[in-house]
Amino acid sequence: MSEYSKPLPEVTPDNQPFWDACKRHELSLQRCHDCGHLRLPSPICPQCLSMESGWVAASGRGKVFTWTVIHQRYHPGFAGELPYNVSIVELDEGPRLLTNIVGCSNEDLRIGMDVEAVFEDVTEEMTLPKFRPVP
Ligand code: ZN
Repeated sequence: MSEYSKPLPEVTPDNQPFWDACKRHELSLQRCHDCGHLRLPSPICPQCLSMESGWVAASGRGKVFTWTVIHQRYHPGFAGELPYNVSIVELDEGPRLLTNIVGCSNEDLRIGMDVEAVFEDVTEEMTLPKFRPVP
């Protein structure tokens, strides 16, 4: 796994619990203590601006909101994967996650397709959440 050559997400104190959960192959969301809004990692609630929050487990289920297929090599690490999709999945809980759909050809991608989280251990320290069609 040490030869992983793509850019990795930046882990910060604010998003560390999200990435720790991915490492356990769990998807987690931040829940605002004041209004209950569920979100991806962010220090401030976008609904009520509260800074008080906790973490809850997400279902890992969602739907393809949109996607694009990348044909151009923008980073050498992706050269062997062209063409690949970059997708947005709307989780059943509401937040939209930038990810890739795996286990499905790019030609078979559809808006509204039911998907579930799968986890790719890309390095010793980092696990990325991806999604596959629900069988
Ligand atoms: Zn809030």
